[in-house]
Amino acid sequence: MMIETNKSLLPYHTFGAKVNAKYFTTAKSSHELAEIISENNNNNEFMIIGGGSNVLFTKDYEGLIIKNEIKGFEIIDEDDSTVTLKIGAGENWHNIVMKTVEKGWQGIENLALIPGTVGASPIQNIGAYGVEVKDVIQEVEVLDYSDFTLKTYSAKKCQFGYRNSIFKNELKGKISVISITIKLNKDWSFNTSYGAINDVLSKKPDLEVTPLRVANVIIGIRNSKLPDPKEIGNCGSFFKNPVLANTIADSILKEYPNAPHYPVGDDFTKIPAGWLIETTGWKGKSKGNVGTYPKQALVLVNNGGATGEEAWDLAMTIQQDVYNKFSIKIEPEVNIV
Ligand SMILES: Cc1cc2nc3c(=O)[nH]c(=O)nc-3n(C[C@H](O)[C@H](O)[C@H](O)COP(=O)(O)OP(=O)(O)OC[C@H]3O[C@@H](n4cnc5c(N)ncnc54)[C@H](O)[C@@H]3O)c2cc1C
Repeated sequence: MMIETNKSLLPYHTFGAKVNAKYFTTAKSSHELAEIISENNNNNEFMIIGGGSNVLFTKDYEGLIIKNEIKGFEIIDEDDSTVTLKIGAGENWHNIVMKTVEKGWQGIENLALIPGTVGASPIQNIGAYGVEVKDVIQEVEVLDYSDFTLKTYSAKKCQFGYRNSIFKNELKGKISVISITIKLNKDWSFNTSYGAINDVLSKKPDLEVTPLRVANVIIGIRNSKLPDPKEIGNCGSFFKNPVLANTIADSILKEYPNAPHYPVGDDFTKIPAGWLIETTGWKGKSKGNVGTYPKQALVLVNNGGATGEEAWDLAMTIQQDVYNKFSIKIEPEVNIV
């Protein structure tokens, strides 16, 4: 194992802040990862990263960054209608989506083009266009730092919620995800409940709806709405969409009858954080080198040379402005380091 010092993190996260890690290494197997962490005996603070697409580094990292590069793609069960796959945490999520849809397997096509790794997918239960990774996850295999053994969490034990899981809460800093096991369908039933997907599909009604076609539609929609981190530094949706008690949502809808809103069970309503930010006047506006993306106010973008600290400062200003206008505190989705 090689540990590098004072390593620039620029290539290892998508926001593009010029920050260094005091120590940096990569792990290609669970064994290697266990060795790195157990031998980290001067008790440096450490952090696992995948693609760095859901982190904002606000300053240099004074500990050890371990980039997860554990690969693997294995069919562990298959019958006429389903296939069960075990996938290494260091695999690129989007590549795995494309690999499965090209085989005609259905289940994660709506999650195409989400940046980052397979191992990070259960951490915040990634989701898009009406699908969350929890819908297909059977198990998550983790390295438990307390005894350096591998443990398996069934989907139920993962306590998945909206952009949430046990790994963001009581297991934060105590485990690394090593692999996930997902079950996909060979028989198709598509979740095209999002209007935008239907709009595109219905333009060619004679064409068969396949997992590959749905993934390509999603890729087209996302490319038209979201900045490509390779061109414009960003970390995706900066805030979570607030889930509000119906009484609170109703009072907003009374004042703004056209506000987008989605029921969550019988008692709650989700109002898009992007709409709240836009309504406070922040859409497409900048402060210093950071701004909100003109096509989607929920994404904070690096206009060039921005520091993570600047982004965090803008995020806090936006949070306060939304609170002042709506009395709603929007919470960051991104991991602030
Ligand atoms: C343009 C853009 C669009 C996005 N769109 C979406 C979207 O539609 N839906 C969505 O849900 N997210 C979206 N995201 C957020 C992000 O892509 C996901 O959260 C993704 O899962 C992060 O993967 P990563 O490997 O980059 O994680 P990182 O950013 O490297 O890590 C994120 C967190 O997970 C932890 N972590 C990473 N790997 C492991 C591991 N193996 N074990 C334990 N902990 C780990 C890290 O310590 C950190 O706390 C988007 C981001 C961008 C930049």
